[in-house]
Amino acid sequence: MHELSLCQGILDTLETESRKQNFHRVRSVQLEIGALSGVDEEALRFGWEAVSPATLAAGSVLDIVRIPGSAWCFDCQDTVQVEQYYDPCPRCQGHKLQVNGGEQLKIKQLEVE
Ligand SMILES: [Zn+2]
Repeated sequence: MHELSLCQGILDTLETESRKQNFHRVRSVQLEIGALSGVDEEALRFGWEAVSPATLAAGSVLDIVRIPGSAWCFDCQDTVQVEQYYDPCPRCQGHKLQVNGGEQLKIKQLEVE
């Protein structure tokens, strides 16, 4: 389950930031997860419950913001929404698409004390 290592990575980032910015506790973490990132939200929440106790993020709230996948359609000459890789364009059903959004997993915001 790679979500567990993702959670560990998030914690590592929080610990690094806490030293830089001098905070001791993380109350909430807002994460942006792209629809195309391959991250399972339930597994991520489960992983967070597993790794966050006994850390500076113990009891913190994980706030997950889903970002839809998007791609440039060469036929429509426009950006369209896609649910997954290799989906056809929802407008023209074409396949000349170049993914340009929704692949990210990043920490968007932190509430700390
Ligand atoms: Zn199209």
